[in-house]
Amino acid sequence: MPKKSSLAPVAIASVSKKALKLAKPSRAEAEAAVRTLLSWAGDDPDREGLKATPSRVVRSYEEFFAGYDQDPEEILARTFEEVAGYDDMVVLRGIRFESYCEHHMVPIIGIAHIGYLPTNRVVGISKLARVLEIFSKRLQIQEKMTAQIANTIDQVLKPQGVAVVLEGEHQCMTTRGVHRPGVNMVTSQMLGVFRENEATRKEFLSIIGHRNAS
Ligand SMILES: [Zn+2]
Repeated sequence: MPKKSSLAPVAIASVSKKALKLAKPSRAEAEAAVRTLLSWAGDDPDREGLKATPSRVVRSYEEFFAGYDQDPEEILARTFEEVAGYDDMVVLRGIRFESYCEHHMVPIIGIAHIGYLPTNRVVGISKLARVLEIFSKRLQIQEKMTAQIANTIDQVLKPQGVAVVLEGEHQCMTTRGVHRPGVNMVTSQMLGVFRENEATRKEFLSIIGHRNAS
């Protein structure tokens, strides 16, 4: 008869979901996991060239997934109200992003266009790029990231509308699976006047040079 596990089921059940989420493995555990993947790929993790790879990969992950430790709402909280009567749309066009597909953990590289029509508050233009960066430095699917960026700007700035268009190349499509390089996935989320008013939406699409603008 197998030895009974010393870890009683009741102890597992009493750990809340949140606590499980917060129980981050140690760096040593993360490096050991990379070693396992190196062996599983068919290589020898002890050979010269791979010795420092687990620690390098873990350091890379700290950069790739830096967005989990940052709060995008906080970034947008500081706004400027003196806009000298400016009441037209603000558009940040062609911002490069690097994100990671949550299904395959490989990069999604692309560009983003973010616009909003202020009510009476504007935000420093670099803050919009920071919001994009925070959401992109997490495991993502492009549709979710597009909605998260638009909804966060909408909730914090309370503008008349928000428009977000992302164009991404998914390495899970280009380097594996169907192997289709050069294909961009385009997602867009239009809120407020950008959704309700066709002229406003077309103006935004024309500013970002989108072919659906005409
Ligand atoms: Zn994928």
